Amino acid sequence: MKLQEMNFKKDTITSLEELSDYLHVPGMDMKALAQVARVYPVRVTGHFLSMADKSDPQDPLLRQVLPDPMELDDRGPLDHTGEESQQPVPGLIHRYPDRVLLLTTSNCFMHCRHCNRKRYWKGHVLSFDLERCERYIRERPLIREVIISGGDPLTLPVERLEQILARIRAIEHIRIVRIGSRSLTAMPAIFSSGLCDLLASFSPIWMNTHFNHPAEINEETREAAACLRRSGVILNNQAVLLRGINDNAEIITRLNTLLLEIGIRPYYLYHCDPVRGVLHFRTSVDRGIEIISSVRGKVSGLAQPFFAVDLPGGMGKVNLEPGAVIGRRDGRILLRTFQGKTCWYDDATE
Ligand SMILES: *Cc1c(COP(=O)(O)O)cnc(C)c1O
Repeated sequence: MKLQEMNFKKDTITSLEELSDYLHVPGMDMKALAQVARVYPVRVTGHFLSMADKSDPQDPLLRQVLPDPMELDDRGPLDHTGEESQQPVPGLIHRYPDRVLLLTTSNCFMHCRHCNRKRYWKGHVLSFDLERCERYIRERPLIREVIISGGDPLTLPVERLEQILARIRAIEHIRIVRIGSRSLTAMPAIFSSGLCDLLASFSPIWMNTHFNHPAEINEETREAAACLRRSGVILNNQAVLLRGINDNAEIITRLNTLLLEIGIRPYYLYHCDPVRGVLHFRTSVDRGIEIISSVRGKVSGLAQPFFAVDLPGGMGKVNLEPGAVIGRRDGRILLRTFQGKTCWYDDATE
């Protein structure tokens, strides 16, 4: 499908010069930013930029794609969750008993400056061996789900994506197929080219999107989401809590209610991993818990994501909930409501 590749190249800015020409940000320190871009290259789509305020360097969308000298802080690991040392076959991460994650490509539509796989932009080579991954999964009937990730798997040539989907769907014990992609906000135009039909032919596909701010959603996003839903794709969002970008309850609420309106269920709000080059985006964990507690009960339950941290060494994600059980007596538990009131609740004995 040539159209996908065409859009892809035409709508993508890959140099700092092009990006600064496009923006109207006064006083950009091009020398300092060029130094950053040499380590962590610029990549952003025209579609994403079209939703940003081109004159405001603090714009929540621009901050996600504009190089920042803070990225050169060399503290923190490149691979926080230990993905590189935990691949039983190249490109496959098997952290949980029933599901595996495939790193199918290191390419993305955009380079999000807060990316936790930033190591791949610096030339860290990803190897993905579909045959070996397929064999590994076939030999392990306890695996029921495959997450097709990267990079962004929707940057793959359509024939390759189809091949991966077909091989995985053909494994009898694989009951759930999930794709992770930033495309709905980075390049929604790819869905007008027959990609929805391809996904429909493997229905149902679960797709996890990545939106961090309500301004990342526009009419084209809405249309792409509608096309995907018509094709039987079930949409869930994974956002990252980012300092100065979405770290308050009002923005998180607007993001999550707007996502629901276009048929995308908020699934995770991730605490930003302590990965090298993204430390300046991190808030405290308490900030996240505070935001989550302030939205519990106040907005639709459908708009309530898990707030999770991903632990080092592949120990997995932990969901953080504000303490609900605050006391126990005589077979009853004392619970805190979303309004901060307390209520005794009769427990059952086992
Ligand atoms: C996040 C993740 C998953 C999926 O976890 P869910 O909680 O099911 O969304 C699977 N494998 C790896 C390696 C992950 O990092």
